[in-house]
Amino acid sequence: MRLILLGPPGAGKGTQAQRLVQKYGIVQLSTGEMLRAAVAAQTPVGLQAKDIMASGSLVPDEIVIGIISDRLDQPDMKNGFILDGFPRTVPQAAALDDLLKKKHIKLDAVIELRVNESALLNRVETRVAEMQARGEEVRIDDTPEVLSKRLASYRSMTEPLIHYYSERRKLATVDGMMTIEQVTREINRILTAVGAVEPKAVPARKARGAARKTAMPAGKKAAKTAKKAVKQARKAAKPASKAAKKVGKAGRRAASPVRGRGAGKAKKAAKKAVRKAAEKVTKKRAKR
Ligand code: AMP
Repeated sequence: MRLILLGPPGAGKGTQAQRLVQKYGIVQLSTGEMLRAAVAAQTPVGLQAKDIMASGSLVPDEIVIGIISDRLDQPDMKNGFILDGFPRTVPQAAALDDLLKKKHIKLDAVIELRVNESALLNRVETRVAEMQARGEEVRIDDTPEVLSKRLASYRSMTEPLIHYYSERRKLATVDGMMTIEQVTREINRILTAVGAVEPKAVPARKARGAARKTAMPAGKKAAKTAKKAVKQARKAAKPASKAAKKVGKAGRRAASPVRGRGAGKAKKAAKKAVRKAAEKVTKKRAKR
């Protein structure tokens, strides 16, 4: 599976990517994470990116494209990957197209998580609180001020990718305001629809039931219909219980699959039973 998750900060890309990693054993490539690691390790890339990231702006395209290109060459990529936070600009998307073409890799889908902007600040605040509770270091760009800058970058630089991928028939949009579970389910549905994952296996009991249904012989089916007709006849003939009893007998005979009656015979018998019952009822009523 080769997938891109698209969405503003706080849309849930990281959470969903983690779930896909666990389910399918693929690799999550988050340029944000890689850049943070580079900053922490004080590599040349990290030193270049540090202040840009802290301000909420985007790191130059050539830096992130270089990081992704190297990463795609690693052996753990062979099972598939999820790109989270990359591409973020149209030039990055074009560069990714070239890279994938050269490496003979096909992209399965781009899933956009669409959320109300008003909910994002809340989500990021929750993320900060959770990280603090776990004793983790809080991201320096997770403040209301920097968040609004990151949102502005998303709108102007990243949102054009929605058009870019929808033109290439790769885009699927998911309502990111649903619960985490619902979003996961919807993503899995899309991945199945595009053939990126195998359809979920049907539980054995359900499968047996379905098989029995499809394997039901015509005679048996007709017998079921006949039973239904008998029930209806009984209802109609309620005041004339004797007649109803006869109908029941005839109907049961018609409905019995063990007697080996064929579809046509069973149906005919049931019809006859219904007709007779109705006639008896009418006659009795007329006598009264
Ligand atoms: P994220 O963890 O995806 O929110 O990214 C954190 C920060 O890393 C962003 O605000 C950018 O400064 C930088 N960054 C991550 N990915 C990219 C990218 N594809 N292009 C440019 N900058 C990026």
